[in-house]
Amino acid sequence: MKRIAIVGGGPSGLFLAILLKRKLPSVQVEVFEQNRQDATFGFGIILSQTGLRRIGLADRETADAIIAASYLTRNRVFAHRGKSIYIEGGADGYAIARLKLLDVLLDVCVKAGVPVTYEARIENPDQLDADLVVGADGVNSIVRRAYEGQFASSTWTLTNRLAWYGTTKHFPQPVLIFKTTEFGNFWTAAYPHAADMSTFVAECDADAWCRSGMNKMTDIERQAFTERIFADELEGHPLLNNKSNWMSLPVTRCAQWSVDHRVLVGDALHSPHPSIGSGTLIAMEDSIGLANAIVANPANAREACAEYQRVHSPHADKLVHAAEKSFAWYEDIGPKLASLDAVDLAFDFMTRTGRVDERRLWAEYPAFMESHKERWSAWASGQGSERVLVAT
Ligand SMILES: Cc1cc2nc3c(=O)[nH]c(=O)nc-3n(C[C@H](O)[C@H](O)[C@H](O)COP(=O)(O)OP(=O)(O)OC[C@H]3O[C@@H](n4cnc5c(N)ncnc54)[C@H](O)[C@@H]3O)c2cc1C
Repeated sequence: MKRIAIVGGGPSGLFLAILLKRKLPSVQVEVFEQNRQDATFGFGIILSQTGLRRIGLADRETADAIIAASYLTRNRVFAHRGKSIYIEGGADGYAIARLKLLDVLLDVCVKAGVPVTYEARIENPDQLDADLVVGADGVNSIVRRAYEGQFASSTWTLTNRLAWYGTTKHFPQPVLIFKTTEFGNFWTAAYPHAADMSTFVAECDADAWCRSGMNKMTDIERQAFTERIFADELEGHPLLNNKSNWMSLPVTRCAQWSVDHRVLVGDALHSPHPSIGSGTLIAMEDSIGLANAIVANPANAREACAEYQRVHSPHADKLVHAAEKSFAWYEDIGPKLASLDAVDLAFDFMTRTGRVDERRLWAEYPAFMESHKERWSAWASGQGSERVLVAT
């Protein structure tokens, strides 16, 4: 391969470009991004320590640069029915504004010698003259849409609504707060991503969306309404908006990861869910998988694409499956909020993906488990007995 064109300058596209340039310096790698360099959507994301370790094994410089620019988060608060539980333990999280993460990746890209062209929207992947075209262009991927049938893709929309705000309120640690109001169920996952800023992902179920009248409001009215719903938590601080429109999240899956010399990575291939907190890592790990396959098959794009799916999909599918369990938990949240108190809801939440079992809860959250060990036994033998608790 002489020329590889990457559509999309998000985390997966930029990281793939870095890996390819390092391993195959003679190949011309280019990235095309539709937005301006200083523009993106959303606020902060959290990257797990385990995921960053895997990024570091693929490229130490990238992982070190992300870690240096991140804000370390520890422990969490879980609140339901007015009761707050402080949960100590779990892996540390590296929180970073999405724009800062993109800046860090761009910096490494530029140093590695990859040209990134901004304000360059690709309308048709076949306009690119390249031996391999990579769709790293997010959940609404035009590369996927151009060959929808051959990628065997399916896309559906979740029923809950969500908006990705920021706030000047600094939450000392990540919080997950559920509120049952006169209009129905609302919740927020909020976390600090800088010393003076937090990310505030606000969500509600389909019933609350209609009963509250949010379905008929403008986005400015929705922001003011959300500030009122979470007034106690925000303590007078405003919500900040960065294209923070309320939306139902689309979910996309593809049975085929490539069509001839066109291949997908990240959200374009399999969008996860914010509640799993791993979308960026899943996307960047796809880039590792694809880069390895290209390095193993530098002369044959189709063979590289086939190897990418064959070798990387067992790992990626595990994470994507966990995301599916997680969004299913949120999609069916009403009965849980109505029937479980804060402690049982916390148990149910922490084991929702099937990847965390009793052994892991004790290992990661010993103080929390010690305080609630009788409750855990009761929950695990009753409510939890039908659950499959398998550590992976
Ligand atoms: C509310 C919310 C919170 C989240 N929190 C977390 C978190 O805490 N941790 C985490 O790991 N993940 C989180 N995620 C998920 C994460 O944002 C995504 O999974 C991740 O950004 C996927 O990376 P990507 O590179 O595949 O796609 P994207 O980040 O979507 O990047 C795609 C890029 O392609 C560009 N593009 C699109 N079409 C074209 C075109 N035709 N031509 C040129 N360029 C194009 C876009 O402008 C964009 O820059 C969150 C997501 C949401 C919605």
